[in-house]
Amino acid sequence: MKQAKVIAVCNQKGGVGKTTTTINLGIGLANQGKKVLICDMDPQSDTTASLGWKQPDELDSTLANLLISDTSQATTIESAILHHEEGIDLLPANIDLSATELHLVNAMCREAILKNTIADVKDNYDYVLIDCPPALGMLTINSLVAADSVIIPVQAQYLPAKGMTQLLRTIHDVKRNIKPNLSIEGVVLTLVDGRTNLSRQVIGFLRENYGTHIHIFNSQIPMGVKVAESVSQGKSIYAYKAYSPVAIAYESLTKEVLHGRERSKEQER
Ligand code: ADP
Ligand code: MG
Repeated sequence: MKQAKVIAVCNQKGGVGKTTTTINLGIGLANQGKKVLICDMDPQSDTTASLGWKQPDELDSTLANLLISDTSQATTIESAILHHEEGIDLLPANIDLSATELHLVNAMCREAILKNTIADVKDNYDYVLIDCPPALGMLTINSLVAADSVIIPVQAQYLPAKGMTQLLRTIHDVKRNIKPNLSIEGVVLTLVDGRTNLSRQVIGFLRENYGTHIHIFNSQIPMGVKVAESVSQGKSIYAYKAYSPVAIAYESLTKEVLHGRERSKEQER
């Protein structure tokens, strides 16, 4: 049995590259021989659609059913898992997940429902990546509680300002109250425009406001037109356009994530 590392890709701001990072880090890890499960925790189901299931609302078994665990429905987690041609598995989402979120608010052990839902399958994988919705509600809290660590994509176009403080506070609250060993894997700069030095300003801003203890990945993801094209084909950036700057950047991020894990394993020894 494997021992999965569960990583939530989280930022309550929309359009910062969470979905793109989840998909291309996930398939990047699969390309390095790892077994990967992606959980789509966003009711907008962009991850599910971007991986080629273009009509998520027509799927019968999704995380929405699994999280509610309605005993009248025989949805098993195995029956909900979809297999993508590039070698990763997906627990899909659809719009029903927004109703699920309301249901979760009144459920027992409401913060740990995703964690419990994936418990039986997670150790079939080396990595489980969770794509979070653009909000700090129950779906995100469930994602953080299920996770060992968090990757925070930050778009290198605006200074992250208040949103980052709220996100770090939420992570801190989850750590203090529910999940003491939750850690921040790192911040990844996305949508980097090579013609400006905004990414340097964003890094300076993060350092100044949040200190040096938050890891910032060396790999920065540039802007590239091929991203939208790969999504429309249901493919990763590697399958759509290998060796494009975005593909090279995500491959490099993948290696940083892999090496980070080896480092922490050595520290445990
Ligand atoms: P989020 O999940 O945080 O809302 P997405 O990953 O969906 O963010 O990205 C937001 C939009 O930006 C999408 O249309 C996506 O295709 C596009 N995008 C993401 N990363 C890049 C990139 N590196 N280059 C160009 N477009 C990108
Ligand atoms: Mg998204």
